[in-house]
Amino acid sequence: MPVEHPKNPPVLPETSLCSTYYQVTEHTDFAGTSEILGKKRFEDWLFSANYTEDAEKLASCALRFEHWQCENGHDFYFRKYCGREYCPICGAKDSYYHNRRVMRAAEHFIWAVTWGNLTFTMPKEISERRLSKEQLRQLQKLAWEVTERILKVEGASVTVHLLGEKSEGLHVHFEVLFMRIGCFNRGLIPAPRLKAVKKVWALLLNKEFGLSLKTTDVRYSFAATHPKKWHKLSYIHRPICTEEKMLALPDEDKKYILSLKGYHRTRYFGQLANNKVKEFLKKHWAPIKLRETPLIEKRICPMCKTKMFYQDTVFADEIPKSQVVMYNNDIWMDRAVGAFLLLQKFEEG
Ligand SMILES: [Zn+2]
Ligand SMILES: [Zn+2]
Repeated sequence: MPVEHPKNPPVLPETSLCSTYYQVTEHTDFAGTSEILGKKRFEDWLFSANYTEDAEKLASCALRFEHWQCENGHDFYFRKYCGREYCPICGAKDSYYHNRRVMRAAEHFIWAVTWGNLTFTMPKEISERRLSKEQLRQLQKLAWEVTERILKVEGASVTVHLLGEKSEGLHVHFEVLFMRIGCFNRGLIPAPRLKAVKKVWALLLNKEFGLSLKTTDVRYSFAATHPKKWHKLSYIHRPICTEEKMLALPDEDKKYILSLKGYHRTRYFGQLANNKVKEFLKKHWAPIKLRETPLIEKRICPMCKTKMFYQDTVFADEIPKSQVVMYNNDIWMDRAVGAFLLLQKFEEG
């Protein structure tokens, strides 16, 4: 039988994965507040630029629920999010999506004592060329290859950031995160090694884009303590193309970022690649999953253990509140199922 509640304490508090409720309330007020303040909204820009579908998804984010039912007629309602980074709810720091990205990355890295992090920055003139998905993918691979070749690491994640901290337009850089096994000096890299990384990256960029760079901007840092590691994950996987940043971009750059839809901003290489990672984690005695997904989130009725089926989509005030109870801020469930879960909790002590 699948485990319903993880016995090990999750590394992030369970509730942080569903902390979006309070932002929903803020979002509802947001329209009114920004009107008073005369603030622009990205939703309006999307409408005006004929991105109607995206605009509508953004406008209805978190306001509607999907109604699902199990084979025995238990009802469930799941809040619908648009999942877009430029959405004020989904693209907030510590949103469900941000935390989910952090947890996924943590599953690859948390077991290792020391992590290294190289940041490969693209020269501004290249960033401004609006690199295609294929080019970004190729550069991700190259960043991994340089890291592997010079630092002899076994695996890494490479995350693309299209914008920087400040609103200075497109600023493409690659965050390469890797474990440093058996390293001394708590993760430091000797200066000549880092110099070699910069040089090889310059050579590769010269070849790729016909440039004549002598060196490049590559920074290195490492994390060996728990708080530093969580900070690193949170930083690397933070929302980048947020509403505020999108609004500050020229229209052509806005359109460019929208055209990259479906692009995987984080890819795993070496022993961390999807087809190898399970074996690799086993070898290092690492947990494969840090957080067991509860049945209800997998659309399986926790009481009957049968699959749920989609029924329809309703607004929050259409949920028959007398027949359901809250599972969390985003899920309502049949009263019978609620009572069953409560009983189960008591029995577990
Ligand atoms: Zn959203
Ligand atoms: Zn059921």
